[in-house]
Amino acid sequence: MELLPIFLNIRERACLVVGGGEVARRKISLLLRAGGHVTAVAPEFEPQLLALQDNAALTLLQAEFSAEQLDDVLLVVAATDDIALNETISELARQRGLPVNVVDQPRLCSFIMPAIVDRSPIVIAISSGGSSPVLTRHLKELNEVMVPGRINNLASLLGSKRKTVKQSISSFDERIRFWEAVLDSRIPELVYAGQDEKAEDNFKKLLTQWLEPGSDGKASAGSKASRGEVYLVGAGPGDPDLLTLRALRLMHKADVVFYDRLVSAEILAKLRPDAEKIHVGKQPKDHPVPQERINELLVSHARAGKRVLRLKGGDPFIFGRGGEELAALTESKIPFQVIPGITAASGCAAYAGIPLTHRDHAQSVRFLAGHLKQGELDLDWPHIIAEQQTLVFYMGLVGLPLICEKLIQHGMAASTEVAVVQQGTTRHQRVVTGTLETISGLVEGAGLQAPTLTIIGSVVSLHDELKWFKGDQVENS
Ligand code: SAH
Repeated sequence: MELLPIFLNIRERACLVVGGGEVARRKISLLLRAGGHVTAVAPEFEPQLLALQDNAALTLLQAEFSAEQLDDVLLVVAATDDIALNETISELARQRGLPVNVVDQPRLCSFIMPAIVDRSPIVIAISSGGSSPVLTRHLKELNEVMVPGRINNLASLLGSKRKTVKQSISSFDERIRFWEAVLDSRIPELVYAGQDEKAEDNFKKLLTQWLEPGSDGKASAGSKASRGEVYLVGAGPGDPDLLTLRALRLMHKADVVFYDRLVSAEILAKLRPDAEKIHVGKQPKDHPVPQERINELLVSHARAGKRVLRLKGGDPFIFGRGGEELAALTESKIPFQVIPGITAASGCAAYAGIPLTHRDHAQSVRFLAGHLKQGELDLDWPHIIAEQQTLVFYMGLVGLPLICEKLIQHGMAASTEVAVVQQGTTRHQRVVTGTLETISGLVEGAGLQAPTLTIIGSVVSLHDELKWFKGDQVENS
């Protein structure tokens, strides 16, 4: 190890920063955030630094650096662009045994300031020992994504319980087992989902169970704590970059995954490698796993203590039968979370350059299911047609000729623009545009394959103008 990582308590301790520019300001801000009392020395200060001077913990000393400024300080940061001066400061600090950091000059540093992910009280510090600051930044970004946004709330909750737990459980080893049970329980996820009160209740219950007299008290509390749950997660329309942070985190956490046909291979590649992956997707006209069976599988795996991920294309509550699955879970008293995803309409529209609403074209948008039942479409056509409205048909490839025919029959102009988007947001995206009269022939001629999404309305006319949005990544015909 090149450097020893330590976290220093600088609360109300004097820190010296030499420099008055932007780099100095960044270091000063950090020292102030950690509660330090900072004196900044420079012949001149940049305006944004001057704006900080109301802060009682900051003293701006307009002067040249001199050695006596090092008296009684805890640490020194040199952030000047004068190499000789930086060397002097480093040398003088070392003579006095003071930790010194010289910005961007590792050779002159006795300590460095790492890249940090700050979710105080949790702070993650990252260093590459000066070998690659860009790699360090990359790791910081990864951590920003993967560490839950509310981990600070979890840390505070656990911190507030330490004393109680210490008083209740005297054995050190047993306390560790208890804390592990807490982290294995639903408590962290409840906190991350903003349900702090429920988390607090669960914590109390868990502790009470743990302390219950009887031979299997702890075992049962432990097993209850690790009781399974279900995450009903929307995986978005295909591009893995469109996953939400929470979806990604739960994908890493799940023990077993039930996924649909629409979930792309790139998204599946982001699952925990050792997770059990079970395809329960339905093919058109072919229902390999009936919905009732899926419901049963979710319940039985959760009952067996597994963290079950139900991964669905798009958003689980838009033509996703998410509601039915939740009803089954509620009935069986299985805890669950629902994570929204970007629905196909939003994803396809954005990547095809077709705004679903637009001041000049449409003030409302309507999502419809376009699949045929016994060759028919059971829709309330007279009420579907309205001025200044965009219609979006999901599952409407087979029924496209009938959809167009019915809309014309009920009064929509045959010249109304239509776009059919195949595999929107993925590398295989294709967009075919036409009118209610022409689109079926064009789509057939182009050989489009499901999944496709049909967008109907004058907003489609904007596609030609806006289609190059993200056009370097997807093909727009
Ligand atoms: N819950 C999903 C929809 C499931 S219904 C969502 O919110 O997006 C399945 C239909 O969604 C498909 O028949 C197709 O019409 C549409 N669809 C899903 N992903 C798509 C994609 N990447 N490109 C085009 N259409 C898509």
